[in-house]
Amino acid sequence: MNKSQMQMINCDFDPSAITIEQAQQVILQTTQTLTETELVPIRQALGRVLRRDAISNVDNPPNDNSAMDGYGVRTVDCLAAHDSKKENKTKLKVIGKSFAGKPFEGEVGEGEAVRIMTGAKIPVGVDAVVMQEQTDFDEQNGTVILEAPVTLGQNIRLQGEDITVGQAVIKVGTRLTAAHIGVLATMGIAEVEVTRKINVAILSTGDELQSVGTALAEGNIYDSNRYSLHALLNDPRFHVIEKGVLNDEQAVIEQTFLETANYADVVITTGGVSVGEADWIKDCVKNTGELIFWKAAIKPGRPITFGKVGKALFFGLPGNPVSVMITFAKFTDWALQKLSGQEIEKPLQLSAKLTTSLRKRAGRTEFQRGIMSYDDKDELVVTTTGNQGSGVLSSMAAANCLIILSTDETSKSIGDKVTVEPFSIYSRAKN
Ligand code: AMP
Ligand code: MG
Repeated sequence: MNKSQMQMINCDFDPSAITIEQAQQVILQTTQTLTETELVPIRQALGRVLRRDAISNVDNPPNDNSAMDGYGVRTVDCLAAHDSKKENKTKLKVIGKSFAGKPFEGEVGEGEAVRIMTGAKIPVGVDAVVMQEQTDFDEQNGTVILEAPVTLGQNIRLQGEDITVGQAVIKVGTRLTAAHIGVLATMGIAEVEVTRKINVAILSTGDELQSVGTALAEGNIYDSNRYSLHALLNDPRFHVIEKGVLNDEQAVIEQTFLETANYADVVITTGGVSVGEADWIKDCVKNTGELIFWKAAIKPGRPITFGKVGKALFFGLPGNPVSVMITFAKFTDWALQKLSGQEIEKPLQLSAKLTTSLRKRAGRTEFQRGIMSYDDKDELVVTTTGNQGSGVLSSMAAANCLIILSTDETSKSIGDKVTVEPFSIYSRAKN
């Protein structure tokens, strides 16, 4: 056996599989952002994708106001020197109070100050606020003594320093977080235009599958994929259509595809995409739509199948439960983001030191399940969850990250640095 034959045997290269990057590009090119939008009250906008810039109706703050509870003063009245001697301290007459929502209406003149609360409008004349802790109020004389030097503008929040009227603060394509919802309210915006919900149909295929809640018959397994997918799709952007379990019967699968494509934007199946004799999905996609690619050079998940059924995007995820979660994250999720009009959110990647060795052959991008933590020197380290079989779903549950090994990388030793991707997609906001 020559060297190149040896290399073929020792590697995972499959000439008919495209690279993960190629697969992702094809998916993005095929996917068109939905044009239909809807108006929703901001309380219902969390996690939705904004389709029109959010433009402020107001300045924030709407006027100059105090950042502290204290005294509003004029800096020209304040002495430069401050020491323990009484004569070197500024003494001012307190002529009134300014509260948030109840401003002091008068003007502050020479030698005068106002008691002012956080958020209260700055009265005419005042150009600095001295925090209460740096003052001494003399109740008998109604005067305040300043215990610290004063600089122009201190503790004053300026009108519009956060947001100015007319400013496009949140841009089209933003997936709205709790902070965005608060900013929308700050701007006086009650409802926003977002992408309509994406209709995602999910179905499992396999003669051996049983739904939970029934006693397991000989030779069968519980369908876990439909449940993990349902959880992955529990997101305000999506409306999930549960199509249950189908047997490995080509005619039934094709009929279901045609019917589902009438109302789904995306159809996701699991199982039946490999090279077994009950693996009908590829043929069903060809007969009801278009098969765009089959197989990507990844592990787990190689037989991932992408195409169209009717006008719906089609993802034939593999049957193995780990493959389902990983191909969903790396492929289906990208299409869902593009459909909803988002910029693709690339997951954060970090470098961590291995505390266990890893087995890997060249030829595929691998997503191994890892547990990352900090060691006693505060260095980021990662360990494997153990058995990396694509059917070992407990490895996903035990992990808090994926260890990503690129196509050409091979086995790794303790102490080697590897790329890790912390889980985030698996813990999304709820409806
Ligand atoms: P397949 O590609 O259909 O041959 O499935 C590959 C492996 O995944 C087989 O061991 C199946 O039994 C298993 N499998 C397929 N679908 C599911 C499912 N919905 N839940 C759990 N395991 C599944
Ligand atoms: Mg099957």
